[in-house]
Amino acid sequence: MAMPTGSTRLAGVIGDPVRHSLSPALHNAAFARLGLDWTYVAFEIAAGRAADALAAMRVLGVEGLSVTMPHKRDAAAACDELSPAAELLGAVNCVRRDGDRLIGENTDGAGFLRSLRVQAGLEPVGCHAVVIGAGGAARAAIVALVSEGASVTIVNRSADAAVRAAELGARAGATAGVSAISQSMVGGPGAVSDADLVINATPLGMSAGDPLPIDTSLLRRSHVVVDFIYQPAVTPLLEAAAEVGAATLNGTGMLLYQAAEQFKMWTGRDAPIAAMAAAVGLDLAG
Ligand code: NAP
Repeated sequence: MAMPTGSTRLAGVIGDPVRHSLSPALHNAAFARLGLDWTYVAFEIAAGRAADALAAMRVLGVEGLSVTMPHKRDAAAACDELSPAAELLGAVNCVRRDGDRLIGENTDGAGFLRSLRVQAGLEPVGCHAVVIGAGGAARAAIVALVSEGASVTIVNRSADAAVRAAELGARAGATAGVSAISQSMVGGPGAVSDADLVINATPLGMSAGDPLPIDTSLLRRSHVVVDFIYQPAVTPLLEAAAEVGAATLNGTGMLLYQAAEQFKMWTGRDAPIAAMAAAVGLDLAG
């Protein structure tokens, strides 16, 4: 990477923790590939300080920020304007600056859909998805899926959060149906057995010894099984899915494509996908 100069433009990510983030590798690879005089750094920002970080963005002339845990909601509140996706989700994962105005975006849903289409060859219209989890990533996926004509069943540890996620899906204009079911109904008719797509949007599988997010005896060869986790690359859920011959997808593609959307918003250039994929060890041909 070229040395920063007096005219280098700056982007970055705010989060806590953030030192493990793959976003600097993704964006700096893209800047280098296109020969752009930009650089991207990680800012460790404590919970509750997102508004300060966004105010600094104006003062310092930072061009764009990615936003990760725990700041996505606070960042939405601190922006001057929100995209329709960010408004609906009440969460921002990307801020772009237009002069002094800060515009909050949410690219998680678009990143997820592109990963699904490119890597799993799955077109959401008419498909039925079971989403395990009802947090920020789950809600982004639910809104994206129902907006593309998929039906969604949500199952989550806290039943009330699942119900709220289903209500959000309905507000997003679900035409094919969106519902919340209890954990005990996952094995019943209409849930996993009838699904085309099974998505883990909980952190279960990140740490050794985590319980499985779902009873894996329910998995079938016909399923596409997605785990939003990308470290480890193969979670016990994906391992079990592969054993029954199901198609599997981890969260690296979603991470890549949501970053590619952000890159385009900031620079106005199409993201160099191959260079970004190589930077995070993703084989898109595989
Ligand atoms: P979040 O907003 O904190 O939501 C976490 C969800 O997981 C909630 O539904 C929560 O249930 C559930 N959960 C947490 N611990 C659990 C446990 N021990 N047992 C059962 N359920 C549990 O988090 P998030 O931002 O949505 O992230 C979820 C996962 O997606 C994480 O692994 C994250 O790394 C990943 N992610 C990946 C990408 C990507 O680009 N690949 C992007 C965003 C997130 P309750 O409602 O009951 O608390």
